[in-house]
Amino acid sequence: MDCTFCAIITGALPTRFVYQDEHACAFLDINPLRAGHTLVVPRLHVQNLMDPGAPAVLGSIGAALHATARLLTTRLPAGGVSVLQANGVAAGQEVFHLHFHLVPRLAGDRRLSDHTPDEQARRTLDATYRMLVD
Ligand code: 5GP
Ligand code: ZN
Repeated sequence: MDCTFCAIITGALPTRFVYQDEHACAFLDINPLRAGHTLVVPRLHVQNLMDPGAPAVLGSIGAALHATARLLTTRLPAGGVSVLQANGVAAGQEVFHLHFHLVPRLAGDRRLSDHTPDEQARRTLDATYRMLVD
């Protein structure tokens, strides 16, 4: 199966993991909307919320969502976290392996509806990564 996130999960594609457990993992998005933009992804391949396998998967990734939100708000200068999640082409889904975007937010942050990657956040991916995993 040609799935980018399955390739990341199996280790075939290198990535910046910030959290892993039995059911899910979290890694930095390669085109961050903000510094620390992280994808929380179940290990089991289901396409999106419409997939019949989604309910079982959703029941198992709560710990990963919680731990990642805590990590981002304790290790980064973030006051909160926005969750974005796309299901289907019409909703803007590009990778068809269910995932949640966790985007660190600051008070007074510009609107998230502007989905342009943040150049500064992209340049500092490795520094952000070290803040989260060292
Ligand atoms: P979607 O539009 O499907 O909700 O978002 C897919 C996300 O996956 C995008 O934000 C994109 O930047 C991210 N992405 C795509 N390919 C890779 C990759 O190879 N590595 C990482 N870390 N993120 C990726
Ligand atoms: Zn997959």
